[in-house]
Amino acid sequence: MFELPEYVTLARQLADTVTGKQIKEGRLGNSPHKFVWYNRKPREFESLTADRVIGKAYSRGRWLFIPTNPGYVLVFGECGGRILYHNSKEEIPKKYHLVLVFEDGSALSAMTQMWGAMELYEKGQELKRKYICDMRPTPIEPEFSFGYFSNLIDECVHSEKRSVKGLLTQDQIIPGLGNSIAQDIMFKAKLHPKHPLDDLAGKKRKSLYDAIRKTVSEVIRKGGRNDECDLFGQPGGYERILSKDTVGRPCQECGTKIEKMQYLGGACYYCPRCQV
Ligand SMILES: [Zn+2]
Repeated sequence: MFELPEYVTLARQLADTVTGKQIKEGRLGNSPHKFVWYNRKPREFESLTADRVIGKAYSRGRWLFIPTNPGYVLVFGECGGRILYHNSKEEIPKKYHLVLVFEDGSALSAMTQMWGAMELYEKGQELKRKYICDMRPTPIEPEFSFGYFSNLIDECVHSEKRSVKGLLTQDQIIPGLGNSIAQDIMFKAKLHPKHPLDDLAGKKRKSLYDAIRKTVSEVIRKGGRNDECDLFGQPGGYERILSKDTVGRPCQECGTKIEKMQYLGGACYYCPRCQV
């Protein structure tokens, strides 16, 4: 699944590559998939995208926005899979969930793996969509200060029992983070995934905040994780510290074997010695 850094990378590459291109034809999926959320019928999508011109793409959290001017915005959200650019000489993949073919013969295709939104809104209406309208500050926004983060933890502790992994991956409390990047954040903060939030004061709180900011900016700088592809089908440059490939291998800090457990909707990888 794409997480915040992959969305930032895709938005930047889209802005550089397809801004100003005119849409010849927009098509919705030829590969049925019940977990792709569309808000338009194929015919409607086709007529609403024809002849429109791509504006500068941008992202927020795990949402990608591509203006189709005049008047509309194409929104991709919570997706994994592939969002790919094809130059005029390249073939469009046989299976896709959305394709835009441009007047110059180039194209954009999207194919999600698990689920995801691919929706076309009248400009402004996208801001009323669930998960977008109520999105809290993401870790790369100026509002995401340590003061804000600290209040967020206090708020969470008041409302229910949560763990560090719960804070990082559930309910979009910190939008943009997901199961992959969360592992490395917890490793850098030396916190066990099950570490309770109500025992996160002082130094621990600050180290978790620093680990979030540092990890996210490093993954962005490296163009996303190496287990996801960018707009040109190239893997990102960030190699995860903890992943399925590191289970049973020595921890890079202390040499203890990395362990795996199932917890909160996904596998967790951690060092039982460093992370407490
Ligand atoms: Zn260790």
